[in-house]
Amino acid sequence: MNMNDTKTISENTLPDEHHVMDTFARMGVELVRGEGMELFDAEGKRYYDFLSGIGVVGLGHSNPAVVKALTDQAQKLTHVSNFFYIEHRSELADKLAELFGVDANAKVFFANSGTEAVEGALKLARKWARENKKNAHTIVTARNSFHGRTFGAMSATGQPERNDVFAPLVPGFEFVAFNDSEALDAALGDKVIALMLEVIQGESGVWPATQEYLDSAQKWCKERNILLIIDEIQTGIYRTGEPFAFEHYGIEPDIIASAKGLGNGFPLGAFIAKDEVAAAFAPGDHGTTFGGGPLACAVALATLKEYEALSIDEVPIKEHVTTVGTYAKERLSELGCFDQVRGIGLMIGATLSENAPLSAPALRDALCDHGFIVNAIGDTIIRLLPPLICTNMHIDALIDEIYAIMNDSREETS
Ligand SMILES: *Cc1c(COP(=O)(O)O)cnc(C)c1O
Repeated sequence: MNMNDTKTISENTLPDEHHVMDTFARMGVELVRGEGMELFDAEGKRYYDFLSGIGVVGLGHSNPAVVKALTDQAQKLTHVSNFFYIEHRSELADKLAELFGVDANAKVFFANSGTEAVEGALKLARKWARENKKNAHTIVTARNSFHGRTFGAMSATGQPERNDVFAPLVPGFEFVAFNDSEALDAALGDKVIALMLEVIQGESGVWPATQEYLDSAQKWCKERNILLIIDEIQTGIYRTGEPFAFEHYGIEPDIIASAKGLGNGFPLGAFIAKDEVAAAFAPGDHGTTFGGGPLACAVALATLKEYEALSIDEVPIKEHVTTVGTYAKERLSELGCFDQVRGIGLMIGATLSENAPLSAPALRDALCDHGFIVNAIGDTIIRLLPPLICTNMHIDALIDEIYAIMNDSREETS
């Protein structure tokens, strides 16, 4: 029998990717076009996108202002290196410093990805420590955190068991339980120069920090002259309603890392530091060929301006994200198949109850068949990171579909 006989038509037409390195388990869909909340596959089938490319395309697919900035810039100038001044970089840095908000003279470094933003933040912390924390170098991060895939960021990620296969990792990192203030108190000893945290742990299942935990982190970091670094790569750029999620907690980090939503799909990252910390870098200490180039700066600036101007049904983006996120959490909770629904704004995690008829990956696949894209984490968690233009109408459609799928599979198994 031909092996392909059992495959669906669409799977038969998927690219075979024979020469693509095997590092991702792909969904059986080839996407070719997007508009707003919608994606279309190679056969013209429509999907509502509740993942936005892992929290990236916040303004929705093919946002006209972003596309215009990209195409205009592409026709003028694409790359010259960081040896030159270019249009848009200074204004983009002004805007990011303003959104950071904790220091009027904050400084920004532009990179190409989240992991590079983290690398830069870690290097800055180490350089700062040479003058401010003699003989100390340890950086503390949380268990089950995620900070990226390059060696420094991977070594900073609080899942050392998983990364053992790449040993030896970069030394100088210690891990502490998340949301455990007592453990944090004990971990922030004399040798520690920086604490790096996510406000909501995204990759491990959407776990928000408690107010008490971040208050303690802020207090001890200040008292002990330890830098507080917040990884806002997933939580930033209005994902939780505020420009950066730390703002919900009233803390003032020394450095933040940003990426995902910053270019609405154009790859770019940045780290932003208080002036007195950024001053530790001298020319030559850090650099990049591509980072902060003409295309990235034009697109990110257009993205941030679009957020400032954007209102959905006359509601500004901050309020809109909060309202729709709250509505989504309520409706998910009412479904009965989730034990716990959590998150801030449109960064939502929901844990399936033990008697749910489907696992998270099975629910994700069934939803995909029915035209809804969500993410599954492990066997039990569904993560939603829709474009921030998502409305209650889209939430209702998703909830109806989950309800129908769960009912169908209950009938099948009974
Ligand atoms: C995605 C992510 C990263 C890594 O970003 P890349 O662009 O994939 O390198 C780092 N930290 C957090 C919190 C993330 O969500």
